[in-house]
Amino acid sequence: MDDIVFIGDWVKDRILGSGSFGIVVLWKHKHTEEKLAIKTCKWGPELTAKHKERWTKEVEMLQCCNNPNIVGTKNLPPEFLIGLERANPSKLPILCMEYCSGGDLRQVLNNPDACGGLKESQVRQILSDIRNAMQFLHTNKITHRDLKPENIVLHILDNSNNNNQMQKKVAYKLIDLGYAKEIDSNSVCASFVGTLQYLAPEIFYSKTYSNSVDFWSFGLLAFEIICGVRPFLPYLAPVQWMPHVKKKSHEHICVYETFHEDIEYSNEIFSENHISKPLKSLMEKWLQVALEWDPKLRGRDAPSKVTFNIPSEEKEAASKVVIFDLLEAILAKKIIHVFSVTTLTNLAYEINDSTTIETLKALISADTKIPDQELTIISTTTYIDLENNDQVSKYWNDSATPMLYAYGKKNIIDDNIEPIVPSTVRRCLEHPKALYNYKNSQNLYRNGLFFILSQMKIYDYLINGLFARAESLKHKSKQLLVKHNSVDKALGKLLAQKEMIIKMTEVGTKHVEHLKENSIGTNFLGGFEKIFKDVHDQSEKTDKLENAWAQISIRLQSAVRRSNEATSADLNNFVTKYNFTTIVTNAMRAYNAFKKSEFYNENRSKDNKSQYYNVSDIVRASYDCLKLRSKILIEMQNHAFILKMKDLSLELSKIDDVITNAADNTDKLATALTTLTDELTSCMWSTISLVIRDAGDISDLPYSVVSFQKRDFKIGAPVSSHYIPHREKDSQLKSLIQESLKIRKSHLSLCERINSQHTSLQKATFDFSFLKDDSV
Ligand code: ADP
Ligand code: MG
Repeated sequence: MDDIVFIGDWVKDRILGSGSFGIVVLWKHKHTEEKLAIKTCKWGPELTAKHKERWTKEVEMLQCCNNPNIVGTKNLPPEFLIGLERANPSKLPILCMEYCSGGDLRQVLNNPDACGGLKESQVRQILSDIRNAMQFLHTNKITHRDLKPENIVLHILDNSNNNNQMQKKVAYKLIDLGYAKEIDSNSVCASFVGTLQYLAPEIFYSKTYSNSVDFWSFGLLAFEIICGVRPFLPYLAPVQWMPHVKKKSHEHICVYETFHEDIEYSNEIFSENHISKPLKSLMEKWLQVALEWDPKLRGRDAPSKVTFNIPSEEKEAASKVVIFDLLEAILAKKIIHVFSVTTLTNLAYEINDSTTIETLKALISADTKIPDQELTIISTTTYIDLENNDQVSKYWNDSATPMLYAYGKKNIIDDNIEPIVPSTVRRCLEHPKALYNYKNSQNLYRNGLFFILSQMKIYDYLINGLFARAESLKHKSKQLLVKHNSVDKALGKLLAQKEMIIKMTEVGTKHVEHLKENSIGTNFLGGFEKIFKDVHDQSEKTDKLENAWAQISIRLQSAVRRSNEATSADLNNFVTKYNFTTIVTNAMRAYNAFKKSEFYNENRSKDNKSQYYNVSDIVRASYDCLKLRSKILIEMQNHAFILKMKDLSLELSKIDDVITNAADNTDKLATALTTLTDELTSCMWSTISLVIRDAGDISDLPYSVVSFQKRDFKIGAPVSSHYIPHREKDSQLKSLIQESLKIRKSHLSLCERINSQHTSLQKATFDFSFLKDDSV
């Protein structure tokens, strides 16, 4: 059909793919821009009846499958029936599908970026989408039988509402039901289909098989998207790997050849991958279920739960299919990603809604050896230092990139942090001139590029983490200003209170001295003198606090100014000067050149596998990467912005302590002064009362200064009945009382004055208006 370019208003765009029977072509509508993926059978009369049936079945089956993760079908525009007549010699039905513009998963995995597997968010989405599609097919008693990366396409969802082009939303869809058959675990099916590497072993060795063949393929696919390689001796053909894999136990999820060509079995996913530890260990459990050798037990409850020594058919009956529910439960778990800036480590923890920052700190502390009291956790969205009782889940999202950054108080970045270098890369750095066989060089190129890309990613997180730290310090200094402001108000009040009691004390002291000189009421005066002394002590403390406060205010102002100085410019300059771009380009070039030579050799000679390769290019790139990494770390340790940040972080936490302390002391002193004022007042009035009691005729005194003794007072009784009989020194008493009244009056006016001065002082001391300016 190469020569057919137009059909009606439809224009042929390009061939999307071509398999052993079909060819899939993208067609575009001239006016509406509508796109269709049309699959036709490229064979004619030579097709057997079985092939024809299989083809027809695929078209019918796909048309019945209505699921967001199975490619959608469309009505074939009628003009194609005539238009494609020549290109469809078999006259078999034409399959008209929605066009999925993101290519297929094999293309994604072939990308050098995917050499150590896909990113966690991508892995999760593929697993979730394919689980959904597979469960749908199995529920409808359809076995796909050809699940593999080539048969999964990426549908880029319309994100016109989403301005951020980087965050394209993708749905993964299953295609190619060419080999699918309506069978379930009870029926058997004996045709030999599928792409060999992903086929379940029983398809080779057994006459019959069930829908559990899909579990195997799904397990293989999952392993490959996580690590970038298949789990079972990926460089060998199925006939070669099968005898080894057959010997594996239930727990083994991969079989590989070591550098020295020994066969090893492992319960773990290879460590060169991009997924987090918690997801990795959950997936290892799931892979044991999916990659179970015995097809009757595969995808079911762990065989260990089933009683041994009974035939596997009975075990099958005793256990139930859990593979889909298990995966769904794994993917529903919340995993929080934390990047520890101080130790340059990617950390991740499974959390629930009650996990607090305090719990998280304990976990981080165990992994990084930074004591948990010294840990600062910052959210990447709010740049706030998180409180211990805060909920971690508030900061969780499903992007699977760091959601939180962690820092130690003492060092922003530790010195001497060893990088994690894959063993293959380490070995070649030790023997840079050695030649490597096909398999070992394949591993080396893959792991070398993975290592370099991981280092670049860590650098990226480090820079973002430093930026977040600078923002959080800015935030913290603003918070401290607010705190400072409120303590400052309380302190102002305290000072006014102190002024007042000092004035009272001064006047009082004079009177006491005068009375003492005249030897009047000497036995009353001890109480006053004690109070005056206490007032003096407390006022000295208040003065000290005031001085310290003035200093801390200046320090805070300076810290605020420094925290507002732009650190992002410093960071940008640093990144412009030191980056991994050249090294990554070189490593990619080396990787691609190796792939090309591998392809060339594979197509030219059968025995390329015994050939030896010079790997100096990838060794060089890995070496350069390590060198740059240590250069960056050394430069950074002594760089002004790091020193400033370190200094500022310590300074702000000191200032915070001092402010807290000052607030505490202000409260204490205010209470002390209030108590002293009360004591003074009550001492004065007790004195007055005593004097009045002994004063005799006080009928011409103002009523308000008369003290009643409560127990004597009767409501309704004439006031005169409470008078205490007058004896002597009437005039002296009168003058004393008058004097007291005057003092009281002057206290009141002094109070008013001090209060008004305090208010204007508040307005004048600190101008916090810049707090409202978010652009700072
Ligand atoms: P075959 O049966 O020959 O394997 P497939 O149906 O798997 O044919 O399609 C072959 C290739 O065509 C796929 O691997 C994929 O790259 C591409 N392809 C198929 N269907 C679509 C589609 N709807 N949208 C985009 N690409 C598609
Ligand atoms: Mg296919």
